[in-house]
Amino acid sequence: MYYLFGKADRKCKDCEHYRTFKYHDKSYRKCEVYGITQSEASDWKAGYDACGLFPNKENTYGRDIMELRFCNNRDPEEQIKGQISFFDIKKQEGKNGKQND
Ligand code: SF4
Repeated sequence: MYYLFGKADRKCKDCEHYRTFKYHDKSYRKCEVYGITQSEASDWKAGYDACGLFPNKENTYGRDIMELRFCNNRDPEEQIKGQISFFDIKKQEGKNGKQND
């Protein structure tokens, strides 16, 4: 987070991206920019030093940071979940009566 966004002289607990959730009488804390998953791997601590997105700046990467990290380890040819492939577009054009190349 610091590498991508720099640091702020505050704590994450005061950031608008810092979220707490209750589930089965237990509290979970997450940074929505880093990523909200059901895994402990995305747990966040209130006492972490805040990053440069504090208190409510937009994450301009357009996706959560866990996903970016995961994508970096992925085969670049592998399709991202939810991504439309070239073949899907061509198939849809065929259904709509457009000529395929
Ligand atoms: S966006 Fe930055 S400051 Fe805000 S909770 Fe996440 S890591 Fe902390």
